Amino acid sequence: MIEIDAVSKRYPDGTTAVDRLTLEIPDRSITVLVGPSGCGKTTTLRMINRMIEPTDGRILLDGQDIRERPVNALRRSMGYVIQHAGLFPHRTIVENIGTVPRLLGWDRQRSRSRALELMERVGLDQSLAKRYPYQLSGGQQQRVGVARALAADPPVLLMDEPFSAVDPIVRKGLQDELLRIQADLGKTIVFVTHDIDEAIKLGDMVAVLREGGYLAQYAPPNQLLSA
Ligand code: ADP
Ligand code: ADP
Repeated sequence: MIEIDAVSKRYPDGTTAVDRLTLEIPDRSITVLVGPSGCGKTTTLRMINRMIEPTDGRILLDGQDIRERPVNALRRSMGYVIQHAGLFPHRTIVENIGTVPRLLGWDRQRSRSRALELMERVGLDQSLAKRYPYQLSGGQQQRVGVARALAADPPVLLMDEPFSAVDPIVRKGLQDELLRIQADLGKTIVFVTHDIDEAIKLGDMVAVLREGGYLAQYAPPNQLLSA
């Protein structure tokens, strides 16, 4: 479980991005942070993997303050997926997906077979293995981003608007794939979106954030009050 305990973030220019946020994020389910642009979703996600430090409050992972863990170990336990996939342009698809295993010291062969296995898992044809990111569609690139985040089998996935840049039909395919992956692998997923329909479709729990970074609602999708 990830516990966000009265966390605030004020940036040095005085902007309050997150205001006394308290959330319990259950294991092995999808928790969606939803709200308009600027309500603190990305800031919250980045505090969970310590790319940003809170101004107040604390975050616990399995009962332990995340500041007590080595930051590299923390980040290795959390796959991270961003909107435009953020793939390495000069590396092939298998190399992109195998990045973290290679960093962990796996040899080329083992990283490669892991990457191929993950391509299948996210619905990518193996014929794409030796291509470069620019040779893939936006939706395929996002699948590679998801595969790369899963490569070291982290218990947690942090996903920041991963499907927002693709057209609605491709987005639906990606959402369905994520639900399948979640059903198979049981990751703890924190998913950021500004799209309430996506939040309702994907979330086991939905946290509705408002301007100024405060939590308006936290409930399963079928118990959300209309805004
Ligand atoms: P969201 O992901 O919901 O769009 P963000 O977490 O990116 O929201 O931003 C929350 C608020 O913090 C916004 O008002 C944004 O402009 C502000 N903000 C984000 N990053 C910085 C920064 N580095 N410095 C100052 N303000 C920032
Ligand atoms: P951006 O501002 O473009 O989102 P970031 O600084 O967040 O860039 O990330 C740079 C690159 O590092 C991205 O490719 C991102 O996917 C990757 N990255 C960021 N945080 C993590 C993390 N905790 N674990 C693994 N990769 C990460």
